Amino acid sequence: MAAIVNPPPIEALRGLRTKVAGPVFMAEDAGYDEARRVWNGMIDRRPAAIVRAVTVADIGPVIEAARRLRLPLAIRGGGHNVAGNGTVDGGIVLDLSALSRVEVDPKARTVRVEAGATLAYIDRATEPHALAVPIGVVSGTGIAGLTLGGGFGWLTRAYGLSVDNLIQAEVVTANGELVRTSATEHPELFWGIRGGGGNFGVVTSFTFRAYPLGPRILAGTFIYPKPRWTAALRAYRDWTAGLPDALTSIVTFMVPPPDWELGNEALMFIGFAWASPDVAEGQAVLERLRQAARPDVEVLDPVRWPDWQAAFDAILPKGVRAYWKNASFDRLDDSMIDAIADQAGRLTWFGTAADVHHMEGAFGRVPEDATAFPNRTARYWLNIYGYWGDPADDADRIAWVRGFAGAMAPHAMAGQYINFMGAGDGRDDRQKALAAYGREKLDRLVRVKQRYDPENLFRINHNIPPGVKAGG
Ligand code: FAD
Repeated sequence: MAAIVNPPPIEALRGLRTKVAGPVFMAEDAGYDEARRVWNGMIDRRPAAIVRAVTVADIGPVIEAARRLRLPLAIRGGGHNVAGNGTVDGGIVLDLSALSRVEVDPKARTVRVEAGATLAYIDRATEPHALAVPIGVVSGTGIAGLTLGGGFGWLTRAYGLSVDNLIQAEVVTANGELVRTSATEHPELFWGIRGGGGNFGVVTSFTFRAYPLGPRILAGTFIYPKPRWTAALRAYRDWTAGLPDALTSIVTFMVPPPDWELGNEALMFIGFAWASPDVAEGQAVLERLRQAARPDVEVLDPVRWPDWQAAFDAILPKGVRAYWKNASFDRLDDSMIDAIADQAGRLTWFGTAADVHHMEGAFGRVPEDATAFPNRTARYWLNIYGYWGDPADDADRIAWVRGFAGAMAPHAMAGQYINFMGAGDGRDDRQKALAAYGREKLDRLVRVKQRYDPENLFRINHNIPPGVKAGG
């Protein structure tokens, strides 16, 4: 017998228009199709209503309606969530993209960011003050989802993750209350939102520490052809031991986009950013890598920080189909390097890539129990990010991502980054949360969830179910 699905309460949802200042998009409205689109083109959901909040006061009525009408509620910042958690079939989407003001206090070196801002807004606002906040590397990503999961980027080794630089946040909790959270106000909530995702409430603003940087920084890429990957990766591994914190690097394997004019074979790119005004020292550090593994091609120039932050935007446009997996490692031994070269060597198409992030530095000095983000002992973090255009390629591309992750699993540590996780890999919420956080952190996250969202209103995310015991 076919399942009986309750139709969404259309009239009640139309009633939201009288309660909020922002627009409400429903299937009947022009703009609905555009409003429901998210970055991952595989995610094609039809929410009953999309409410674009234009003031913080718009959030309360949306929470109230979702509870009263018993509808699933998805919270959206930049819409870049790979698993598609910024939208939901048949429920309400609270879209915060119009709340995007960024205020810089150059004296205090702090930056207050409204939750709908994308990374580009922050870099644009801090650049005139020669300051930067540690955030991610693709400028259209939302600050909210990025920060709530962790926030990897070109300043991770110099200053830590985005969460490590969060001073306070304002959050509307499941009961509609607006609270400020910091190390001293609602400290458990503050611990939970630094890695635990959107499980505990709707964040309306984040306040970050900022650091002197730029306006130009030394950044660039060394490029290696396939026959040299193994040797170059071994040299890279040796070079990363004992590097100054100022140098953050990411190794990327991908077929370059046609307009880079680098051919159509997969290449290995070592990208780096030097977060110090001492350019001569940065050059000397890079010269050591050059001597150990001379690149076939290199691009190395002082570059404006916002330009470097947007350098890879074009290869990851909105609407591509995507499936990602990640893993953390305490080493890169020769057998792992062989496995990475073998798996990455199977890439024959443009779109889809894998990154090895070098961690340690400021990231590694944050005590494990200081934030919900998992695994501070990781020395390297692998992100396998499948993306492609043609639905006919879905099975093949997803199989490549899974095959790569499977080959690396025997070498991996406990601890996965929720922001680099795709959807639909057959694991339930508890299994995913356990793989991400481990038992101890998951138990603590569950306690925070029980206090701030016991009914699991905020469940369209990498969910921490309030009734779950990690050990259970
Ligand atoms: P959304 O889809 O809008 O939101 C994601 C989830 O965050 C929501 O489901 C919700 O659970 C939660 N959320 C969003 N806003 C709020 C809020 N105000 N209050 C409470 N919960 C909220 N990650 C990195 O660390 N570094 C990178 O360099 C990086 N680059 C990326 C590049 C691309 C092209 C993409 C697609 C992703 C990248 N990511 C990166 C991963 C990124 O951090 C996650 O996809 C993140 O979820 C995106 O956040 P968003 O606000 O854009 O997403």
